[in-house]
Amino acid sequence: MNIETKCIHSGYTPKNSEPRVMPIVQSTTYVFDSTDDIGAVFDDPTKALIYSRFANPTVMAVEGKIADLEGGVGAMCTSSGQAATLLSILNLCKAGDSIISTGQIYGGSYNLFNVTLKRLGIECVFLDSDADEKTINAAFKENTRLVFGETIANPALVVLDFAKWSKAAHDHGVPLIVDNTFATPILCRPFEHGADIVIHSTSKYMDGHALQVGGVIVDSGSFNWKNGKFPDFTEPDPSYHGISYVDAYGKAAYIIKARMQLMRDFGVYPSAHSAFLLNLGLETLAVRMDRYCENALKVAEFLKGSDKVESVSYPGLSSDKYNAMAKRYLSGASGVILITVNGGRKGAVRFMDSLKLASNEVHVADIHTCVLHPASSTHRQLPEDQLASVGITPGQVRLSVGLESADDIIADLKAGLAAV
Ligand SMILES: *Cc1c(COP(=O)(O)O)cnc(C)c1O
Repeated sequence: MNIETKCIHSGYTPKNSEPRVMPIVQSTTYVFDSTDDIGAVFDDPTKALIYSRFANPTVMAVEGKIADLEGGVGAMCTSSGQAATLLSILNLCKAGDSIISTGQIYGGSYNLFNVTLKRLGIECVFLDSDADEKTINAAFKENTRLVFGETIANPALVVLDFAKWSKAAHDHGVPLIVDNTFATPILCRPFEHGADIVIHSTSKYMDGHALQVGGVIVDSGSFNWKNGKFPDFTEPDPSYHGISYVDAYGKAAYIIKARMQLMRDFGVYPSAHSAFLLNLGLETLAVRMDRYCENALKVAEFLKGSDKVESVSYPGLSSDKYNAMAKRYLSGASGVILITVNGGRKGAVRFMDSLKLASNEVHVADIHTCVLHPASSTHRQLPEDQLASVGITPGQVRLSVGLESADDIIADLKAGLAAV
């Protein structure tokens, strides 16, 4: 199936006289014929469903769809994008381990790595996205367990050089985890470019309607966990009767381990109702992504021509620093644009407060056009020198172009810029 068809049909195929739409299975638990039957599922929870803290039929249908869209062997939904990022890392790291991340990542991920993981004893070495191979190779240590980057960084809009980062990770025997939130599998499928694990905040384009927070982890099934660096995958797990994940589950070892250990113990699983709504968003994802890209390119070109705008970052513009990278890896640059209006922080605030159609809100990547001032919101906790290291300046505005008429969006921006 082509990806447009997968958006609609993957994950759930009704049999004779079953419902057309995947039903919401609103039940915490599942009934068995005998004590022995339940016991068998505790030995191997992949055999049947026991409890909706870590598996539910409605959620699993959506997991199947997302795995198919990304071209992976399996997926696990989480109750937020943050939970997906956290579990994707804890599935590989424990206290005393280290990770490498590009510095230009989502502010919430940056804080998680820089502060909270550090408290758990996991160190993060941040590197500039544009770092050369020599610098990247020199950053690896004996205890480095993974490399992390974002396809299109939120909000810096740096496009990841997949070839460079995946080669460095693989040369050192560790996987590349990619946050593919802004691109979605419609614009980029990171597994085709060397990534091993993909995560998403489904709160953004996948849900697409600003309805609910969610996340997902997808496993490519292609990483070799038997290279000696990941004993938790090959040695017996005492919490599951001595199972070795690689021996028992082969290519799906990573994603099954994440569910059996981490989701069981942390319980950050979405509700069936949330998964049902996410599925509605996914059904139209391919159509929506096309229009986001089309609208955003028109808006970016308008902004580029305005004398009230100091700079425009949009990887879809031929003049953009990351346009070549976008052409190599993306089939569209999404709907997010980063601009600096004249007058620094003051100019940014005056522009934003003068908009009528575009709303001022802490969200991005849904059907409503909205704006955000990263320096005073999502990146507020960072001092000015660290702001620069994640690719943000005090005068920048993140513009999320929605699915309204491009002419109406441009008219609103024009009025806002007139106030600067
Ligand atoms: C929003 C976002 C997250 C965090 O997701 P939540 O669903 O808000 O927890 C992670 N990565 C990126 C790129 C995001 O935009």
